[in-house]
Order: sequence, then C-alpha cells, then structure tokens
Amino acid sequence: MKIETKAIHLGHEVDPLTGAIAAPLHLSTTFEREADGSYPRGHIYTRLSNPNRDALEKCLAGLEGGEGAVAFASGLAAIMNVFQALSPNDHVIASQDLYHGTTHILQDILEPWGLQVSFVDVTDLDQLEGAIQENTKIIYFETPSNPLLKITDISRVAAIAHRIGALCVCDNTWPTPILQRPLELGADIVVHSTTKYFGGHSDVLGGAVISKVKDAFFDRIRMLQQIGGAVPAPFDCWLVLRGIQTLCCRMKNHSESAFAIAKFLDKHPNVEKVYYPGLANHPGHDIVLKQMSQFGGMLSFQIKGDKEEALAFTGRLRIIRRATSLGGVESLIEHRASIEGPQSKTPDNLLRFSVGLENVDDLLTDLDEALTKKE
Ligand code: PLP
Repeated sequence: MKIETKAIHLGHEVDPLTGAIAAPLHLSTTFEREADGSYPRGHIYTRLSNPNRDALEKCLAGLEGGEGAVAFASGLAAIMNVFQALSPNDHVIASQDLYHGTTHILQDILEPWGLQVSFVDVTDLDQLEGAIQENTKIIYFETPSNPLLKITDISRVAAIAHRIGALCVCDNTWPTPILQRPLELGADIVVHSTTKYFGGHSDVLGGAVISKVKDAFFDRIRMLQQIGGAVPAPFDCWLVLRGIQTLCCRMKNHSESAFAIAKFLDKHPNVEKVYYPGLANHPGHDIVLKQMSQFGGMLSFQIKGDKEEALAFTGRLRIIRRATSLGGVESLIEHRASIEGPQSKTPDNLLRFSVGLENVDDLLTDLDEALTKKE
C-alpha cells in the first residue's frame, strides 16, 4: 500500500457495531472484565491503552515503517521518555541546533538525573566522532533542524551509531514521513511532535515515538508511557488521526509554497540570508536531495537590520500571523531568539516561518509589502 492510501486508511477500520466510517470516540476510562477475570477485548484502563490511541499508534507505525509506535501527550513528553528509557550515567550525543525545549530537557532535567550529554554539530562527522564515549547510547538530532535548518546525513550518522552500539534517534517532526523516511535510511527511532504537521490545524498537542523494531528498548518506552502516564486524551488521538488523512496533500502544498517563498526571499534586497535546504546555496543541499523527496514547509531568514527591524517587519504583515509553533494550515512567523530566551544563540534578526496553505501569491505579496513598505 502506498503512503497516501495508508494515511487515509491505517487505524480507520469501519466500526463493527454501527458501521460508522469516521471512528467513534472512546471516552471510557475503564473497560469491562469477564466473570473469569480476563479482558478478552484487550483494554483494561485508559492510561494503559485506549482504542483511539491504539488506532493512532497503528497509523503512525505504518506511516514511518516501524514495528511499533507509542503516543504521548506532547512532542516533548515523547522525547523525554526516549531519554528516560536510558540509565543514569549513559551518554548521549545531541545536536547543538535543536528545538530549544529538547535542549532544556537534556540540560535541566536529564543531566541533573545523571545522564551525560555532549552537544555537538552533528552535521560535522569529525566533531561527532570526537564526542563518542564508551557509554554513548544515543545520537540525537533533527534534520532539518530547528531553527537553522541544518541538514544531517541520516545514513552516515546511523552507520556511526551502529558501529559503536548506540541508537540513532531522529526527530522527524518537520519533514514528516511523507518527505523523509529516517527508519529506511538507518535510524532506529523516530520522534515526533504530532502537534505540528500530523495534527495540521493548530488545535491539538501530541507526540510519538516510532521504533524500527519492537525490542527491549521499545518495551521500556511503552512501560514509561503506561506507568509514567504522559498519555494523550482519546479526543487528541482522534484529532491527530483525522489530521493525518490529509497529510500527504498538505506536505506537498507546504513544500511547493515554501520553495517559491525561499527563492523570492533569497533575491530580496532587504533580506540578509535565507535558510532553506531547497536552495542550491544551502550547505546541506546535496544531502537533502538524497534523503528528502521535497524540501518541506519551514524556512528561516535574517532580515537586513536588527531585532527591532525584524519585529517591525512582522508588525506590517497582514496575512501571516505572529505566533510560535508550526505545521498548521495558516502561515506563522516568529522572532525565534526572543521565544528561545536569554541563552539563545539564534541571530537576533532571524525570523522562523511556517509556510501555510494560503495562496502562495497572497503570501508573496504580504511579504513583499512588509519588506518594502516602511511606515
Ligand atoms: N520537536 C520539534 C522539532 C519541535 O519543533 C517541537 C515544538 O515546536 C517539539 C519537538 C516539541 O513538541 P510539543 O510542543 O508538541 O511538545
């Protein structure tokens, strides 16, 4: 089955009781036991499993090509549980350019818990090799990364991880399995914020871990989900599963518009630099041609001028909304350094742009007018 068909049908069985095509919502927290004490229908208590969560996990595993998926209440809960499946004193090599919440988790929760973490530029394989320790258990990165869109060669990093007996873990939130397939390229685990493109409408928070194999590490993540309890509510699972049905068309449209906008910004006299892997001048362009089918809906750019200039520009936009997050139908722009906080290394004139599904000419006009007009 091709991915477009999987996105529509995986986890969407016709309801055997009513014939409903759209899945029923199972709000019950508890499920009936037989007189002999057994649970022949599979569910006991909703923290442990729920029909809506099962359906979502089945779909996510199928889309990424993994043997199993574990859904969480947020992307960060998913990421946190992958690291918590390790033991104190294990070592992680993590990319320097990551969603700032992930860096926060590693530095402020997991390092005090005993995890050892080295932050390196994983796009530089020599730096990566130099950070390897005897106890390295995970190499962790995003590609394209947030917010600088750095590109990591997934198969080469996976080969290094496997040589030293570590796991290669890739956050595939930005490209989604529609544009990039880390498990097929050698990664062992993929994590997602399903809040973004999977949900697709800026109205649901969620996360997921998808594993190539159902092994002891996967079982430990499942245990952490069920006992730690950072589980998504049934309706949140329902919303993400519904969002996934249109994921393929949305990703195509997001990518086409973002590519057109990146080319436009790259030539604009009031723009200093554009970060988009589809541009031939992007340092990761050759790698991205090998591992992504399109270049995605996210880009960052530095405006000519300082922070005030960047903020004033966003104030002149009429269609593109000023807000954090990404992956929804509406275009969102944000001044990244101020959302990341005082420790941010992101340039002060950098704006991150989640290109939505509006007509691309309207978006280009909005950008051009805000860049050119100075009130
Ligand atoms: N991973 C990436 C790449 C993200 O961009 C984000 C959030 O922006 C997260 C993880 C965290 O996801 P959530 O906000 O669902 O916890």
